[in-house]
Amino acid sequence: MKVLVTGGCGYVGSNIVAALGAHGYTIGILDNLATSSHAVVADLQAKVDAQLAFFETDVTDREALKDAVKVFSPEVVIHCAGLKSIADSWHNPLAYFNVNVAGTINLLEAMEQAGCSRLIFSSSATVYGDPEFLPITEDHPLVPINPYGRSKLMAEAVMHDWQRAADGRGVAALRYFNPVGAHHDYLLGDNPKTPANNLFPIICQVLAGQKDSLSILGDDYPTPDGTGERDYIHVTDLSEAHIRAIAKTATPAFLVLNIGTGKPSSVKQVIAQFERHSNVPITTRIEAKRPGDVATSFASNERSLDMLGDYVGKTIEDAVASSLQAAGLKQQS
Ligand code: UDP
Repeated sequence: MKVLVTGGCGYVGSNIVAALGAHGYTIGILDNLATSSHAVVADLQAKVDAQLAFFETDVTDREALKDAVKVFSPEVVIHCAGLKSIADSWHNPLAYFNVNVAGTINLLEAMEQAGCSRLIFSSSATVYGDPEFLPITEDHPLVPINPYGRSKLMAEAVMHDWQRAADGRGVAALRYFNPVGAHHDYLLGDNPKTPANNLFPIICQVLAGQKDSLSILGDDYPTPDGTGERDYIHVTDLSEAHIRAIAKTATPAFLVLNIGTGKPSSVKQVIAQFERHSNVPITTRIEAKRPGDVATSFASNERSLDMLGDYVGKTIEDAVASSLQAAGLKQQS
């Protein structure tokens, strides 16, 4: 079966490509290389046991996108291409709506033209906004509190309307909690070309000596140790969830699934794990909370476990160990 991954050179996309390769799919990658390079494509090709078709295409380039989707002619598209920084989305909201929403419309048009009716979407728990209750279920109110989250929610709405507009269309919107870690063989870690904003890559930068200290952004949250709590899901488990979701898109429906472990970890707990695995103390500084950050966010993954089976095979310790390995940092044996 032919599967096209948009954003297939990015952190999540490349891990999905690795999983598709291991499952014997015929893979197309469509990426504008904004956050990666031809070297990433070559590296993926060398590691994935399948011939990759690569299209250097931007999802905002409507005509080029149509051509690429038509040439590859996928049965399923996994749509990971998009902008993903909450902070950046405040400065460049139009870019977020252009890439994440207009880019999605372009993709759906291109799919229609190529006769493709099955889609899996990289959505985000950011669509929920401030949690009104925990764990967050898929029925939680959708009140995103930043342009990034709004762009993901708008893209979901576009896909939902597209899905029900014709017979035979199947869409699965996977709402990721916090993807972390790296693939054990491929070392496809979260190593952005653009400045890192997320906790795991920043800790790796501190351990690599690229940063002096880690800023703990708030230590007076109403959590057991005062620091923010998140649901960190190993990226290979997240990839596995996509592989399992492929079959679900054969049934005409718009499926919304949280992808998370269902368990929160605090910033201090994550730091302790990194210190334990690296045996290197991490210098920290307490700083002000990041605007818009919530105290605690974690998934109810009941629905996704029910639909996809148990895709949560790894622990936060595995995620920390693989992040260190991917960043080329020594681990405590
Ligand atoms: N965080 C932190 N220092 C940083 C970056 C993040 O203390 O330099 C905290 C942040 O406040 C949150 C957690 O780490 O509680 C996860 O942040 P991340 O940006 O990785 O994910 P998100 O907040 O988008 O869920």
